Formats: sequence, structure tokens, C-alpha cells
Amino acid sequence: MQFSSRLLEQAVDEFGRLPGVGKKTALRLVLHLLKQPDADVSRFTGSINLLKENIRYCKNCFNIADQDVCEICVSPKRDHETICVVEDTRDVMAIENTNQYQGVYHVLGGLISPMDGVGPSDLKIEALVDRLRNGNIKEVILALSATMEGDTTIFYLSRKLKEFDVQVSTIARGIAFGGELEYVDELTLGRSIATRVPYEVKG
Ligand SMILES: [Zn+2]
Repeated sequence: MQFSSRLLEQAVDEFGRLPGVGKKTALRLVLHLLKQPDADVSRFTGSINLLKENIRYCKNCFNIADQDVCEICVSPKRDHETICVVEDTRDVMAIENTNQYQGVYHVLGGLISPMDGVGPSDLKIEALVDRLRNGNIKEVILALSATMEGDTTIFYLSRKLKEFDVQVSTIARGIAFGGELEYVDELTLGRSIATRVPYEVKG
């Protein structure tokens, strides 16, 4: 791609770094922004700066939040004895959209993946164990993707949770989860949570 301006090229490069955005789309977005009123562009860049500077992670469940503790964790309407363990915030959003789940969450921040150098200590696993140690938790639902990383993480977690007197369940594993979760229809996802099954450690 030949650019008539260095500034234009720089902006296109930055947009092109976003997931799912190729060079052509990046150029289209940048040219679109150039045509917008200054106030609109300021609002756009301002919202990104504000997000980055002020966003917090709930100190309880590690979901993205505006406060120290997220709205789900402080809600008296939620069932605080049931924890649904997910990979990231997108999964929380997808499950919330089903309106089928009344418990609370725990966001791991990824999955165990030796190939990518992600081990258990890189995830919020100890924090989950602490929650079980300190709280009155009756059930932990492992809602992780049906991938090798998801399986590895579920296996690791189920071993870790063995010492506690909690029901460990998994959701129907046909579901594409984590990243692809947003493409799963709400009915299917909602049903798979409602019909979750106890997890048995094999071997
Ligand atoms: Zn929370």
C-alpha cells in the first residue's frame, strides 16, 4: 500500500493492529474518521483513553468493572453460593445475555496453554481457591471452551477443587466458547447452563 502521507500510514498501521482488521478496512476506518467533525473524533479517542486509564477489574471475580467490586458481585439478587468460571469478560456478557444464570462469576483471564507459555500461575486460579476457602460456595460451574486448552484447564481446576465440599459441573461441551461464544445463540447457551452436568475426574 502506497501512502501519500506518513501520518495517514501511521494511523492505518495502528488500526490494522486490531484483531480482525486488515489493511484495507483500516484505511477505510481512518478515512471515515478524517471526514468526521473534530468533536466526534475527540469523543472517540477520549473514550478509549478513559477506558484504559480508569477501567478496573473486580477484586472478587476479576470481571471488568467501574468500581473495586463489580455490580454482579455486590448484587443481593444473585446467588453467591454458585460460581461460574469463565475464560474472559466476553463469556460473562454472553452468559448474562441468556438470562438463565443467577449466580456469580470468576474470570480466569485465559486458559492453561503450555504451547503459548500460559501456566496455572498466570491465571486467577489461586484467587478462585481463596474464594472457596473463605466463602460458603456450594457449586462451581466450569464454563470453558471445548478446546484442548479448555479441557486442560477443566482437568486442572477439578483436581484443585477436590479438597472442597463443592459440586463441580461443566456445561454441554458442544458449545464453542471463549471468543467464539458471542456467535453461540442465547437459547443454546442458556440451555447448556440450565442442563449442566457434574464433572467426573477420569483416571
Ligand atoms: Zn465481581
